[in-house]
Parts: sequence; structure tokens; C-alpha cells
Amino acid sequence: MSQRVEQVVILGATGSIGLSTIDVITRNSERYSIYALAAGRNVELMTQLCVTHQPKFAIMDCDQAAKKLRENLAHISTEVLHGSEQMAQIAAHNDVDTVMSAIVGAAGLIPTLSAVEAGKKVLLANKESLVMSGQLFMDKVAQHGATLLPIDSEHNAIYQCLPHTLQQDAKQGLSQFGVSKILLTGSGGPFLTRDLKTLKDVTVEQAVAHPNWSMGQKISVDSATMMNKGLEFIEAKWLFACQAEDIEVVIHPQSMIHSMVQYTDGSIIAQMGQPDMRTPIAYGLAYPERIDAGVKPLDFATLTDFTFTKPDFSRYPNLALAIDACRSGQAATTVVNAANEIAVEAFLRRQIGFCDIYRVNAEVLEKSTLHSLNSVHEIMAQDAQARALAHECVSRIR
Ligand code: NAD
Ligand code: MG
Repeated sequence: MSQRVEQVVILGATGSIGLSTIDVITRNSERYSIYALAAGRNVELMTQLCVTHQPKFAIMDCDQAAKKLRENLAHISTEVLHGSEQMAQIAAHNDVDTVMSAIVGAAGLIPTLSAVEAGKKVLLANKESLVMSGQLFMDKVAQHGATLLPIDSEHNAIYQCLPHTLQQDAKQGLSQFGVSKILLTGSGGPFLTRDLKTLKDVTVEQAVAHPNWSMGQKISVDSATMMNKGLEFIEAKWLFACQAEDIEVVIHPQSMIHSMVQYTDGSIIAQMGQPDMRTPIAYGLAYPERIDAGVKPLDFATLTDFTFTKPDFSRYPNLALAIDACRSGQAATTVVNAANEIAVEAFLRRQIGFCDIYRVNAEVLEKSTLHSLNSVHEIMAQDAQARALAHECVSRIR
């Protein structure tokens, strides 16, 4: 069957998700073509990607990086642009069908919202944008008829375990379709069994070494603190139009089950697979069809342990903080997200310790004046205020 080739924009192309997306697209080049690539500052990798895939546009975060890239690409026809506004424009371009949102952090918000407003198929990996703008984001998805497909492996799993009607519109109410609970699984990260007294000594190298997943630095640290699960908790609330009470976090160290949906009749449906993001990416690209992701199925003969526990909030205070923020509302989740970005960055620069990440997040939330957020402008103002408080807190600690 011949079909039109889908034009894809990859925001965050040089990152872990970006590269996995390019891998899946390359395996299915009869169906997908790369229209544009956008990234932060990695000119060298971007040069390679552009030479190989010859996108129509390449967009870097800053002017300087764009200049260098333009020089490197003088021999090919890729047009080089820079800045968030240009990313937003390209993501909304008429010729574009699908946008992979895989910039890390709040920087992903504006281009992702732009894709939503243009009614694109949006593959959402950038959970931070939803954590910041939840209500506004989901309202815009509905208003502009965008198709939103969760790529975060847990949310992709939950999506796969939901009835079709709820996939199309979760606002119809999970309970109407017999869903009684969303079971959000998490590995517990590298410090699941580490002596609590030694957590303060955790190094950057130890924190970014996730036992099961290979990911960018920020999300790896978030997985070690389980702030990642906290952000995912908030993400699930918005994606599946439910309340904090409907979501339960389950620790499953092997990361084979990627999350589950529990039904009133006692059934629990789980989605399983290798911890490889190409599976959810392929699912999102091809939905509702299935394509090759280059991922081997699980081999049950070799699986040994398969265990589950409840999270210990004294080990993961950031998880508790994020769940509390989720209950409190959107201003609180925006604040926690912003503070956490600054705290993780400071930890990665070795300016503060591992346990200080929580200290910064908790202090910023406590000191913040929470506003009602009804526009991108108001969200960005709340975000900026929290970042300023977080910087202050970091300088005091270092
Ligand atoms: P990464 O650090 O590997 O890549 C981040 C990408 O964003 C890079 O291409 C970088 O150049 C780009 N970027 C950073 N700042 C930018 C800016 N200001 N403008 C434009 N581009 C910018 O991160 P990742 O692991 O690929 O994660 C990306 C997103 O996907 C995050 O939001 C993360 O939470 C989410 N996610 C990742 C995974 C995973 O397995 N890696 C799983 C689930 C969700
Ligand atoms: Mg995840």
C-alpha cells in the first residue's frame, strides 16, 4: 500500500530521544521523512545529522551555534535558523505533519505549544512543558484538534492499556469505562537500596548511571531523586484527565512493565517490553498502526526477578514534594519544575550536593507566591520567579 510520506520535525534532535526518533524514522523511511531538526548547542552532532538526513531546516538555540552550523552546511541545501521563535514557526509549518517534542526542560514549552496550536500530531516526550502548563496545554490540544501521543514510556504504556474511546478523549472520565486506577511504575533509580545516610555523598557519575535506561543527564538525575516520577505523576494527571487519588506509584526495579491500568472488575492491563524508548516512539509515529522499532521482544526464558514495592518517601522526598504540588495546583507544579531544573543543573555542575536538590526544591516552593496561571505569559512569570529563588538558594548552599 503506498501512502504519503509523513513530514516530521524533531525538537531536541541531538538528545537521547531525538536520536532514537531518527533511528526509528530511518528504519521506516518509506513512511517518514525528516523535515526539520532543532537542538541546543551541539553543532558537531547537528552537522552530522544534517549531512546524513538533509532536512529542509536546522534550528539551533542561539545565533552563535547557528552561524557555525551554517558554515559547516554550506555544501548542502539545509537552511539554518536559530531561536525558540523559529522553532515554533517551523513546528507549525503547513508542510509538517508530526512534531516530536524532545527538548529537555521548560525550553520545550513554546515550540511544543506552537505545534499544538497548528493542530499537528504531537509526540510528547518533553514532560516539563505539560507539568508547567497542564490545563492550558490540554485545552489547546482540544481547541485546535491536535493529536497528542505520549512518548514518556509510562504514559505511552498507560495509553496503550486504555480503551480506544479514552485514548481519543480521556475527559469522558476513566471511571465511565471501568478504569479504577493508574499504576505508574518506576525503577527507583540507582539508589533504591543505597544506605540512606550515604545519599549526601552521591556523585554526579553515580547519579546519572541509571540501571536500566540510557537517557539525557537531567532526566537521569531526576530518576535518581524520583522527581522524574513526580513530574510523571503530574503529567499523567493532565494526559488522562484524572485526579491525584487515581494514580499510584509502584516501584518495579526491572523496568519491564512500563505501567498498568487497573479496572473495576479486577483486571490489570500492563504494557511490557525492553527499556528502549524506540518502542514508544514507534508507537507514537505509527499510531494506530505498528511499525518496526528495532527493539527485540522480551525473552521470558531469561527474565529472573520481577518485583514490586511501594516507594519510600524518606528516600525520595522529591517524589512526595511533586505529588503534593500536583494536589496544590498548576502554580505549584510550575514552581517545582523550575526549581528542580536549576537545582539539577547546579548538581551537575558540582555546585551543590545530591540531597541539596530537594532542599532547593522545597525551599523555593515554600517561598513562592503562587498565582493563578491562565496564559503562557503568566506561566513564564511564575517560572521565572521560581528560577530566581532557586538561584538564590543555590548560591547560599554552594
Ligand atoms: P537530552 O539531554 O539527551 O537531549 C535534550 C535535547 O534538547 C538536545 O537535543 C538538546 O540540544 C536540546 N535542547 C536543550 N536545550 C535546548 C534549547 N534551549 N533549545 C532547543 N533545544 C534544546 O535529553 P533526553 O533524555 O533526550 O530528554 C528529552 C526530553 O524527553 C526530556 O523532557 C525528558 O524528560 C523526556 N524523556 C526522555 C526519556 C529518555 O529516555 N531519554 C524518556 C522519557 C521522557
Ligand atoms: Mg518515563
